[in-house]
Amino acid sequence: MPAMPSSFAEARVDLGAISENTAALARRASPAAVMGVVKADGYGHGMIPAARALLAGGAEWLGTAFIEEALELRGAGVTCPVVAWILPPHAPLARAVAADIDLGVSTPALIDDIAGAARETGRRARVHLKADTGLNRGGLTPDQWPGTVAAAARAEAAGLIRVTGLFSHFACADEPGHPSIAAQISAFHEALEIADKAGLDPEVRHLANSAATLTLPETRFDLVRPGIASYGLNPIPGPDDTGLRPAMTLRSAVALVKRVPADSGVSYGHRYTTDRATGLALIPLGYGDGVPRNATNTGPVQVGGRRRTIAGTVCMDQFMVDLGDDTLGPDAEAVLFGPGDAGEPTAREWAEALGTIPYEIVTRISPRVPRVYD
Ligand code: PLP
Repeated sequence: MPAMPSSFAEARVDLGAISENTAALARRASPAAVMGVVKADGYGHGMIPAARALLAGGAEWLGTAFIEEALELRGAGVTCPVVAWILPPHAPLARAVAADIDLGVSTPALIDDIAGAARETGRRARVHLKADTGLNRGGLTPDQWPGTVAAAARAEAAGLIRVTGLFSHFACADEPGHPSIAAQISAFHEALEIADKAGLDPEVRHLANSAATLTLPETRFDLVRPGIASYGLNPIPGPDDTGLRPAMTLRSAVALVKRVPADSGVSYGHRYTTDRATGLALIPLGYGDGVPRNATNTGPVQVGGRRRTIAGTVCMDQFMVDLGDDTLGPDAEAVLFGPGDAGEPTAREWAEALGTIPYEIVTRISPRVPRVYD
């Protein structure tokens, strides 16, 4: 059952910004093509609307973590190539092959499993072999690579699979100059050479995430896979000169305002105490909506056009803000984050304040908060 939407708050998603960010990334990456990454409900923006905006902006491929996400795209009528790259045991391989979904291969056994799915469906499976070049997460290790490449070449010769892609993923591309970057690039070149010698001739070789697309031209190969940058958030901490436009704005009505005396403890645990008689505004968004509880006394928020900080503990459905002597009009709103051009905080600023990454700030906004599309 879908969560009941809050009637006070909304996450506005500027689909034009997603398209424009994608177009800007496509210009930067050209002649490499762009794969829009829409896993985790389009990084919280809504997978299907985000996918359409990415395609409108020039993305030619889409990427998901799971086959179920890719099938949802197909169900919505998306016909471009879609790659799903996390295939746990019992993943619905045959359904994926039947729906023409490209499969990222991170274990040697998957070649046989996918060949089986191809036999079962009577269709040639599209496969991207993933090399683990140093992230040590998914991907075939250097030990597994030559054998799996050979097995893939045999399954290709047997007409069961087509190796459409060879790829890898960075560990530290968001830390320019990190020594692992050069090591991973060189390991990827080695992996490509082994595949080439085995006779594989994929449509696309791809390595770059957002950070690499923005800063490492030599990693663009045939296709780049920017996720967070398409949603307008530069993953590299510090000053941002990318010109990307954040697509999501999280905002809410103010539910009530009250006056309290000096020395009043505010919210659970009384972790905030008023230093004078003051006005408090109740903002009806909490950790049940995806506002992190550790934004207690920390999270920046614009209320009534002015920057403030959350006062006291973030509760499940609400938090408080100290207004001082300011009065609010009846239509005053709270903006937790947005593009930043009206003085509101950005998701990057939230991430910095909370010691996390902007990905987590936007992705965690729960289904209880309705997405409203501009
Ligand atoms: N490619 C792969 C394999 C990923 O797992 C991800 C996301 O984690 C991306 C691309 C997109 O990364 P980013 O959002 O940092 O651009």
